[in-house]
Amino acid sequence: MFCECILVKPGEIALKGLNKGRFMQILQTNIHAKLKSIGQFSITNSGSVFVIQEEGEDHALTKAFDQLTHVFGISKLCKAKQCEKELDAIKLCCLQVATEQAFFNTFKVEAKRIDKRFMPTSRDLCVLVGDWLLQKKTNIKVDVHNPELTITIDVRHDYVFCAYARSEGAGGLPVGCTGKGTVLLSGGIDSPVAAFMMAKRGMKISCTHFASPPYTSELAHQKVVNLVLKLNTYCGRTTLHTVEITKIQETIKKHCSAELLTILLRRFMLRIAQDIAQEQGEGGLVTGESLGQVASQTLESITCTNAVCSLPVFRPLIGMDKKETIKIAQAIGTYDISIQPFADCCTLFLPKHPQTRPQIPDVVAAEQGIKDLLLDANGTVKPETFRHTTERIG
Ligand code: ATP
Ligand code: MG
Repeated sequence: MFCECILVKPGEIALKGLNKGRFMQILQTNIHAKLKSIGQFSITNSGSVFVIQEEGEDHALTKAFDQLTHVFGISKLCKAKQCEKELDAIKLCCLQVATEQAFFNTFKVEAKRIDKRFMPTSRDLCVLVGDWLLQKKTNIKVDVHNPELTITIDVRHDYVFCAYARSEGAGGLPVGCTGKGTVLLSGGIDSPVAAFMMAKRGMKISCTHFASPPYTSELAHQKVVNLVLKLNTYCGRTTLHTVEITKIQETIKKHCSAELLTILLRRFMLRIAQDIAQEQGEGGLVTGESLGQVASQTLESITCTNAVCSLPVFRPLIGMDKKETIKIAQAIGTYDISIQPFADCCTLFLPKHPQTRPQIPDVVAAEQGIKDLLLDANGTVKPETFRHTTERIG
């Protein structure tokens, strides 16, 4: 019996020069975190790939394989059997791979040698092993163009791996290698996709959600928790900050022009999210805005909301159509949660004709009227205007 393992090939990390070591370390940590709940595994670095082997008795390697397809920073992964660097062992190992694949008629053997001193050459290895498999197994034939089974003989410095069952990885960069940020997470379709996209570029995200009880319900909040749980599949365990924004909304509604309501609310949201981000040592904010999607997402509206932030605000969906966003939401499993019909605070007190071209001086003037109630002399949100609860999800 040959030892079964998973080979994980990192993606862009290979291009990261002096940062490569740090990124590989973060990826290894993330792989470990992903697998620890399903069994005991060793993760070793064999040059440009990680080799993952099961150490316990849980028979969880297939489950581990599925889980690893959700880890950012992995470009490809495959199952493999490990053997000694010796031709007879390689033949037997490939035969075992072929024997365990119940249904295939056509196959191909590929070979690559990182250890170039190993003989036979890659080309000869393919021929020798391919011929041997033809002798040992009946009813199979070689098809180099469209084989049902491809076995790749990967000759490394320590061992040889006979790899099969290749799969694309999630791509991107390992979560945590490009900094931290908080995602303004509504219960809608867009913001979970924005969270996913930033995590894919290596950002460790936390989530900030604004609720307006009693206008928004416990069910609406549970929906957000469920979205965070789903996002955890890709982003790792996440902190959810829930901010009650009821008093701010009521004050805006009472004292300000209805057409500016959403813009004013957004400015408060961004100020509060920025405070939370800075408390957590995070370097950016993320929203699910897409240019022109609604009145609060025109260029003028975004200019007005952006003006209250000094941290960068990332809007990964800014150039996307709703259809494209929905496609990603469906693929990552957030769509079915997002479409549950529980009111979000942004749908409260919605004006019939929101301002689509607000100007900063008008918005600032409107805020002057409520400054004493909600803002302090520095223009920061008074802490007593909201209660902020934080929970670690997952
Ligand atoms: P989504 O599907 O993300 O809710 P949307 O199309 O409904 O997006 P808006 O409601 O205009 O768009 O919200 C724009 C962005 O503002 C959201 O993507 C999100 O980042 C942020 N946002 C809106 N409402 C909330 C909320 N209640 N809590 C946290 N962030 C919010
Ligand atoms: Mg929304």
